[in-house]
Amino acid sequence: MDCLFCKIINKEIPADIIYEDDQVIAFNDINPQAPTHALIIPRKHIATLNDISSEDAALVGHMVKTASTIAEQMGFDQDGYRTVFNCNEHGGQTVYHIHLHLLAGKPMGWPPYQETLKKPLDQ
Ligand code: 5GP
Ligand code: ZN
Repeated sequence: MDCLFCKIINKEIPADIIYEDDQVIAFNDINPQAPTHALIIPRKHIATLNDISSEDAALVGHMVKTASTIAEQMGFDQDGYRTVFNCNEHGGQTVYHIHLHLLAGKPMGWPPYQETLKKPLDQ
């Protein structure tokens, strides 16, 4: 399958992996939008949030739990952080293997659509 993130899972493409277990891996984003910007992905290929089945609920829950575990391990759990799933074109999805963005290290603005129109997410 010609999927960038499956290739990272299979170690065909290098990535700066910060966490992995039997269900998920997490690695630093190649184009960080915050001082910490990691992506948490399932080992199972699922193209978009629309393709999640009820059997995937525990897996997606584990992705979210992994975000909070990494936050605690990296020491920004109390300052705070943002998690984001982008879905399809309007969501800004560019890689079609679901991934949870984990952004941290500075305060981030809200709502995100203003950020997109006026300035990058990290300003
Ligand atoms: P999306 O826009 O689909 O929500 O997020 C895809 C993310 O993957 C982007 O933040 C992008 O910078 C990141 N990305 C794309 N290609 C690579 C890559 O080859 N390696 C890593 N580590 N991140 C990538
Ligand atoms: Zn994939």
